[in-house]
Amino acid sequence: MSRILRIAIDTPLRRLFDYLPPAHLNVTPIPGIRIEVPFGRRRVIGVLIEVTDHSEVPESKLRRAYQLVDNEPVFDEHLFNLLQWSAQYYRHPIGEVCAAALPGALARGAALTASRECWQLNREIFAQAQAALPRNATRLHALLNHLSDGAWHDATSLSGIYPEWRAGLRTLEQRGYVQHTLKADTRPIDVASPQGTPLKLSGAQQEAVRRIVDRVGQFATLLLHGVTGSGKTEIYLQAIDAVLQRGAQALVLAPEIALTPQLVARFRNRFSHPIAVLHSGLNDSERLSSWRDARNGQARIVIGTRSAIFTAFKNLGLIIVDEEHDASYKQQEGFRYSARDLAITRAQRHGIPVVLGSATPSLESMWRVRQKPDDLLALPDRAGGAQTPTLKLVDLRQHAANQGLSTPVMMSIRRHLDANGQVLLYLNRRGFAPVLFCPSCGWSAPCPRCDARLTVHQRRHKLICHHCTYEQPLRNECPSCHAEVKAVGQGTERIEETLQKIYPDAPLVRIDRDSVSRKGELDATLAKVHAGEAKLLVGTQMLSKGHHFPEVSLVVILDADQGLFSTEFRASERLAQSILQVAGRAGRGDRPGEVLIQTEYPEHPLLQRLLNEGYIGFAEAALQERQHAHWPPFSRIALLRAEATTLSVATQFLHKARHLAQQPHSKVKIFGPAPAPMTRRAGMHRAQLLLHANSVGPLQNLLASLLPQLEALPDAKKVRWSVDVDPIELF
Ligand code: ADP
Ligand code: ZN
Ligand code: ZN
Repeated sequence: MSRILRIAIDTPLRRLFDYLPPAHLNVTPIPGIRIEVPFGRRRVIGVLIEVTDHSEVPESKLRRAYQLVDNEPVFDEHLFNLLQWSAQYYRHPIGEVCAAALPGALARGAALTASRECWQLNREIFAQAQAALPRNATRLHALLNHLSDGAWHDATSLSGIYPEWRAGLRTLEQRGYVQHTLKADTRPIDVASPQGTPLKLSGAQQEAVRRIVDRVGQFATLLLHGVTGSGKTEIYLQAIDAVLQRGAQALVLAPEIALTPQLVARFRNRFSHPIAVLHSGLNDSERLSSWRDARNGQARIVIGTRSAIFTAFKNLGLIIVDEEHDASYKQQEGFRYSARDLAITRAQRHGIPVVLGSATPSLESMWRVRQKPDDLLALPDRAGGAQTPTLKLVDLRQHAANQGLSTPVMMSIRRHLDANGQVLLYLNRRGFAPVLFCPSCGWSAPCPRCDARLTVHQRRHKLICHHCTYEQPLRNECPSCHAEVKAVGQGTERIEETLQKIYPDAPLVRIDRDSVSRKGELDATLAKVHAGEAKLLVGTQMLSKGHHFPEVSLVVILDADQGLFSTEFRASERLAQSILQVAGRAGRGDRPGEVLIQTEYPEHPLLQRLLNEGYIGFAEAALQERQHAHWPPFSRIALLRAEATTLSVATQFLHKARHLAQQPHSKVKIFGPAPAPMTRRAGMHRAQLLLHANSVGPLQNLLASLLPQLEALPDAKKVRWSVDVDPIELF
């Protein structure tokens, strides 16, 4: 008989742990349930992965599990398989993968279904109990009377009788008069009454909805490539409606927690079905109840960020990944999964369609539909008659920028303000200035812990490192020659100051992580923008993503040159995406939009292509470059990173890794070890080894044999190392 339980436990070890079943267990435990076991000196909750009859550990040495936490699996079947597959694919410990998937409360042992404690009187002995209780025990009599109807009563019903009712019930229970049980609590989820009705779709929208609905019930990866403002959300809403009508549930992923409230509002305004929300801003009990609602099928739509891909569903029918190109779908530490990629794998397992939506799809997705044109849903025009904005370059070599703004830009801002439009200025650099510089000796303020400069934060009077948490007071004089130092370059804080000087009459808001760090601040600031109280909007990425500002008629990209000459293979894709996403904030309402891009390199092919051929032309060229250079999606890569207190320790470890990884006739090429582009960060020296193959098989095989050997290396204890499969950043 199979009696060895193989259990995933939340530890960094890439293995399962074997246990004997709890004593006196008369059922065979089902994989997927949680189970409480001794681990070292602790009691922990793990997930049962399989039941076998063989263990490498002699049976006399196996410990016994304490108890089963569940009587049914926590994860739905496909999710359970997906988790095991992800642990393999991303080469991450299965215990940590399961722990990442579970809401904290469940990982700590909370009940899988919401339940209430209820008490009931045994009616046949009511008279007997009444007679047996002392006459002066008035409170116990009151409890008995309250329960005399024989129904189950919960805490809400009983707590009104007297404050110490629990103690009283315990007495009655000990005497055998009442019994108690846990009853499933299926309180209905609040639903707002929807005000909105489906919009009349354009031809292209109709076609897209029809083609999504056609694929319901089977696996398909559809790319919804719609320009900014083309009405992608309306398509999600109508496709989801069709799925709900068939009794299934839908999962909608959004890249940023900041964008979920708007999305949730649009969904609540349309559906009378219960909607659950899952993101990092929830507290433990909110997350637990959203998760339970999705799992038991009560919530019909789940809207969430990255980790919501690990929600259990009763009957999942459709997955939407909005802004699928967004880098925040990739977790950048610990379990480095891509929620976008896992959405595809999950859809495949469930046999359902997944819709990837974006105005600027990832090159991976562009490549996929190039091979399967039927999977492309294209919306080339904006919805509701709005015009796509025109992009213009401003040559900074001809029009020198003064405090970050060139003359044509200043004149355009004036013109749009005079016409009562809003102007959005984008600069992806927060703070006042990126460098504090000494003109007399050339010193510039470094971070003592990173290979990076400190950013000047004028308002807080500090120098702050944007790569670690280091900060120091802002100084006026050079530490080496005592000359006066200068803040050089532009950050959003400085642009804000400059704009206020030039346009004192125009109310301004700045949106970046410094100005809206507290909960609710972003919403308050966005409300000001929507109410038209702000005319100038300055900000970073935070301002560019997803927002719908109908009154913005001019968008200025202050510095397009960051990223033009990066050696990172994804840099040009990122740059093109961010330019078009920011540009897409212009002209979404009745006002036609204008976009000005300041650059010192107006002839750069990337900018030229974006202007002349749009994203599709850019993507074609970028894919060709990737193909020539054998980068993904034309190859598969994994990165082995190591960091240590000295570079040589990190590099030595990677040299050993390289040695172990090298096999004759291997289809995997190994590059490095090389120091990471920013070698020192937060006091640690970092290096990396790049593994490169033409297809996924050889790469995965190599990792499978390499990682156990690495774990066994004595050097592995001297470094912090990690593996990143399908990395999106090469550092
Ligand atoms: P996207 O997500 O593609 O950027 P949205 O879904 O936010 O675009 O739509 C942009 C605007 O166009 C919204 O105000 C939306 O209400 C409107 N819209 C979408 N579809 C239609 C339609 N068929 N008719 C009229 N307006 C539409
Ligand atoms: Zn100096
Ligand atoms: Zn630093």
